[in-house]
Amino acid sequence: MTASESDCLFCKIVAGEVPATIVRESAGAVAFRDINPQAPTHVLVIPRAHHPTVGELAAADAELLAEVLREAHQVAVDEGVAGNGYRVVFNTGAQAGQTVFHVHAHVLGGRGLNWPPG
Ligand code: C5P
Repeated sequence: MTASESDCLFCKIVAGEVPATIVRESAGAVAFRDINPQAPTHVLVIPRAHHPTVGELAAADAELLAEVLREAHQVAVDEGVAGNGYRVVFNTGAQAGQTVFHVHAHVLGGRGLNWPPG
């Protein structure tokens, strides 16, 4: 584990060292409820392996990114929001609002979602 991974909050959630409300787990990914939900359904899907951003994950392991996206869709199905519509968001970089630099897909649903986002 590198220094950045040992300091990484989401690596600690994967390791069970920081509590989270986990809703799905697969071989490569973990899904848990966001502690500050922005919609009735707000779940984060992360790869178990540490990659800072979606671009870096795409370059390093495209199949793992596909697994994250499959899990995101299954979360929407399980939460009952897939039919009416949901959003998958990867904030990428500080200006886009990324605060945790372990890539995560926000799965948002259960209410009308404005476009464009803020
Ligand atoms: O895209 P961004 O990096 O801002 O998203 C980080 C998300 O992680 C926030 O929505 C925040 O509420 C969530 N979070 C969490 N559990 C923690 C720390 C942050 O769900 N322990």
